[in-house]
Amino acid sequence: MKRNWEGVVLKVMGAKDFTLEVTGREEITPDFLRVHVRDGGLLKASGLHPTMWIRLWFHDSGKAHQRAYTLVNASPADGTFSMDFAMHQGVAADWARSVQIGDTIDATVQGSSFALPEPTQRRIWVVGDPASIPAINSLLDARGTVPVTAWLEYQHDADTSLEVRTAPGDVVTWIPRKRDGAALVEDVCGSLTSNSVAVAEDFFWIACEASSTRAIVKHLRKGLGVDKHRIDALGYWRA
Ligand SMILES: Cc1cc2nc3c(=O)[nH]c(=O)nc-3n(C[C@H](O)[C@H](O)[C@H](O)COP(=O)(O)OP(=O)(O)OC[C@H]3O[C@@H](n4cnc5c(N)ncnc54)[C@H](O)[C@@H]3O)c2cc1C
Repeated sequence: MKRNWEGVVLKVMGAKDFTLEVTGREEITPDFLRVHVRDGGLLKASGLHPTMWIRLWFHDSGKAHQRAYTLVNASPADGTFSMDFAMHQGVAADWARSVQIGDTIDATVQGSSFALPEPTQRRIWVVGDPASIPAINSLLDARGTVPVTAWLEYQHDADTSLEVRTAPGDVVTWIPRKRDGAALVEDVCGSLTSNSVAVAEDFFWIACEASSTRAIVKHLRKGLGVDKHRIDALGYWRA
């Protein structure tokens, strides 16, 4: 298993390695593919939590590239899960586009952890896009009766048909990606104000393009004074 320096650092940090075997591939939309895998013992060894992600190792021109993907429909009993790939040009997306049944891929578990804060929140505010929809759906499944307001940025018309597992009372707004993400940031920050947000009672989960994620977190922390423990934010990709 050839790795770059990141693989060595992860090993020192106690990362666990597994080999996944592809058992199928599904086109959810032309720009969103689902790959089914046997887990090589990953779920039994690592457990499962909402928004759980793993590091996949792709090889291109003799180099190893690590990319994060979220577990979908995981079954520890069967030792299977799926992963959803938002399509663009990149080693990970290209792999999903051409992968065959029986292909294998190395995966490392290190760094994923998440638990909804206690006590229960008044409202959860979510910002994401197709890359984070798998994680958002696992969050929606885990949030009990807490209402959710979500903004989802999209680049392909079919993205808006992707399943978002909302409940009555949730609000989802799809925003086309415009001006390098500024349209999303302006809409979200314009809506998250001291009138709409209960700073000490709400929870914020942000996972979109890296600079958009940063801008929204800055608005929450500096503009509204939200405590960092009420924010879970991670740039999921870099424009
Ligand atoms: C914790 C975590 C979990 C994630 N889970 C998922 C998941 O379940 N499904 C998923 O699809 N992605 C997920 N991502 C995002 C994924 O890791 C990145 O999109 C990654 O960069 C894709 O790698 P690549 O090799 O295909 O493209 P890269 O080589 O990284 O990028 C190539 C080009 O594609 C563009 N690009 C990369 N990602 C996207 C994107 N999502 N949308 C539009 N353009 C893009 C880049 O700007 C660049 O120009 C997750 C990220 C994190 C941090």
